[in-house]
Amino acid sequence: MTAALTRVDAGVPALGTDAKSAATAGQVPVGDWAGSFWERQDRALREKYRARRELARITTLRRVARCGRSSMNDGGDVVLRYSPGTGEDGSASAGFGGLVTCGSLWACPVCSAKISARRARELEHLITWNAARGGTVALLSLTMRHHSGHRLRDLRRGLSAAWRHVTSSRGWKRWKSVLGMDYVRGIEATHGANGWHLHIHALLIFPGDVTEEMHALTAEIWTRWSTGLRRKGFDATIAHGVDVRVGTGALEQLGRYISKLAFETSGGRWKLGKNGSRTPFQILADALDRARDRDLALWAEWEQASHGMQQLVWSNGLKAACQLDEIDDETIAEEDDGGEFVAQLPRRTWEKVYPVAEDLIIATRTGGPEAGRAWLDARGLAYDHERDTSERAVLLDEPDPPFAWLRAALAAEDPEQRRERRRRYYRTAQTN
Ligand SMILES: [Zn+2]
Repeated sequence: MTAALTRVDAGVPALGTDAKSAATAGQVPVGDWAGSFWERQDRALREKYRARRELARITTLRRVARCGRSSMNDGGDVVLRYSPGTGEDGSASAGFGGLVTCGSLWACPVCSAKISARRARELEHLITWNAARGGTVALLSLTMRHHSGHRLRDLRRGLSAAWRHVTSSRGWKRWKSVLGMDYVRGIEATHGANGWHLHIHALLIFPGDVTEEMHALTAEIWTRWSTGLRRKGFDATIAHGVDVRVGTGALEQLGRYISKLAFETSGGRWKLGKNGSRTPFQILADALDRARDRDLALWAEWEQASHGMQQLVWSNGLKAACQLDEIDDETIAEEDDGGEFVAQLPRRTWEKVYPVAEDLIIATRTGGPEAGRAWLDARGLAYDHERDTSERAVLLDEPDPPFAWLRAALAAEDPEQRRERRRRYYRTAQTN
């Protein structure tokens, strides 16, 4: 049995293209990926690390410029670690400890991938939990008309206002209370011939069968969405503005489709655009490859306008209901994968390693700690083989020794203080 998503129209006859989009909805886009799993993994890692390094030169966000480069330790040292079999799929992994991470979902190729992977797992968990309680899901997409003269910041304002207009409606609230509806809403952005295109994907979660109600729900969403847009000077056409698909068929496949979508929506889609449009990261790649002013300007606009935009918003209480912990993007990006100590790299070694850091990671993850140290030896780079145990010995039982102090400090900080700290980090480079 294959999974299918059946479109619920908002009162107009379904378009001919709907069947096609539903039929191809679950397919993974095929890009320039070829070769074995590990070749692809290595290539993806290289691309992301290289992009982050080059991004450091052009970014307007200070913290992004420091991500994966600046040490958090007083002496400037960095620790290389190796984990046999704790990777995403039970495979070995390697990484650095003690570095600043930016936690920027929208602008950082490395943090974005890490955060998106976690968010996709959370959604998978949600789908499984909902299926186990006999629930159903629907996928809602909302778009707005746009042209190349629209500024991204204005589109974002219009989109947010229209979405608020939908979720504050009486109908929406009634479905929440009567049908037990919950949702996770995501935002996706692309850029094409008609400028920036923002749209909303929302996963609607119901504890039971709501087939009967879907028509009314779709019609109401459309009415509120279009009114909300008009109030901000935007509009949408009924044929393209709203799209609701109800999941039928194998829930497991549907779940896979939705989490794939979530992964893409949450920024995990590295560089793949469709229909001639580009994702922000594709624009970044082009900006770095070809250094065209237009791409550089688009990327700068993206960084500034997307900053602070919440990617995935879960309805109140939903995470708690399915027993997921609240965890913010920055914390995910800061999370240390742990693993065994391989080497402590003093500042002068790290400065040499940084331009090719991905090579050391790949060497270590492929060949283990010995290979990592051999890589350093071959380049005549100094490192400490033994962990400096003088003060860390007492921390051995902590789950995450290098970051325990940071977590404790963050937990003790009051929210306003934390917001101010973030504002400082993200203050644009030009203003300094
Ligand atoms: Zn980052």
